[in-house]
Amino acid sequence: VVRAAVLSAAGAPVRITDVTLAAPGPAQVRVRLAAAGVCHSDLSAADGTLAQPVPAVLGHEAAGVVTEVGADVDTVRVGDPVVLNWAPACRRCWFCSRGEPHLCEHALDAMAAPYATLSDGTPVYPGLGTAAFAAETVVSAAAVVPAPAGLPLELAALLGCAVLTGVGAVTRTAGVRPGESVAVLGLGGVGLSAVQGARLAGASPVVALDRVAGKEDLARRAGADAFVLLPDDPSSDQTRAVAGEIRRLTAGRGVDCAVECIGSASTIRTAWSLTRRGGQCVVVGIGRRDDLVSFGALELFHFARSLVGCVYGSADPARDIPLLAEWARTGELQLDLLVTDRIGLDDLPAAFDRLRSGIAARSLVLFDQG
Ligand SMILES: [Zn+2]
Ligand SMILES: [Zn+2]
Repeated sequence: VVRAAVLSAAGAPVRITDVTLAAPGPAQVRVRLAAAGVCHSDLSAADGTLAQPVPAVLGHEAAGVVTEVGADVDTVRVGDPVVLNWAPACRRCWFCSRGEPHLCEHALDAMAAPYATLSDGTPVYPGLGTAAFAAETVVSAAAVVPAPAGLPLELAALLGCAVLTGVGAVTRTAGVRPGESVAVLGLGGVGLSAVQGARLAGASPVVALDRVAGKEDLARRAGADAFVLLPDDPSSDQTRAVAGEIRRLTAGRGVDCAVECIGSASTIRTAWSLTRRGGQCVVVGIGRRDDLVSFGALELFHFARSLVGCVYGSADPARDIPLLAEWARTGELQLDLLVTDRIGLDDLPAAFDRLRSGIAARSLVLFDQG
């Protein structure tokens, strides 16, 4: 029996209660969580934007220690520190065999199978397959990556979603090269990671945009050369002023690559308008199914831009988490900068509110390791 944050229905508040975990089956492991980041995708699952069978324990950006292994597990042992991977690749499907493990057909299979029960026996599903807002979880052995040595688990947790996604969006999805200009819209955990990814890729200038003026300091510490305030009301006049500011910073052309980390039609349109002719507009934010983005048929031809979706930073956690950890070790990647609050599991509902308001970057749930 472990304490967990349970979502009973889309739109309902999460409730802290006890769940009973099943023993790890074949090819599964039990993990005692050390820390779990509160990601916008958890909010999207909680409000129904992302489909998630319920009741569910959310949480997918986490690290902890293996406490039990099922049969046929030879990749990790009891006592190993691990980072969770919410989209484990099967390594066998068509996408995996093409070197696109982030698009694996089976990446989200685990979220559809109950992994625990409530006190009345109701089956509980693991949010995004990982169920990390709980003292312990049971996941597929493929869903854990050995945690890098020398990195505190609370910072290693961030590598599992925000950092992998944000850095990957710039370095892998867009393949930004040294000297190219990058704009990042939305400075949560993913956006601040994208800013750092742009810096790591040698981009120049790196422009950070957010609706909250108070994010400027964080943006500059993450490596942004300039900060531009996004208007609350995306009316054409105000957005034109933003585009004008970006053109002033890029010799009149617009950026080589714009990375949208918000997930709304209006900010996708803004990101698109900041992109130079022939440049790339990468959409990382997860928006609503009914939030439609429109493009004029002529502008698609005239601007010759690419509009690119981004899943999990086009990354492979098994390959990329060690790389990111090395950058963290050398100080080129600042993980602690992303953490704006350290909280207990009971404070999760308040952390969701802060995330909704856009004022926080990452709230990190810390679990008692006793
Ligand atoms: Zn996430
Ligand atoms: Zn696959």
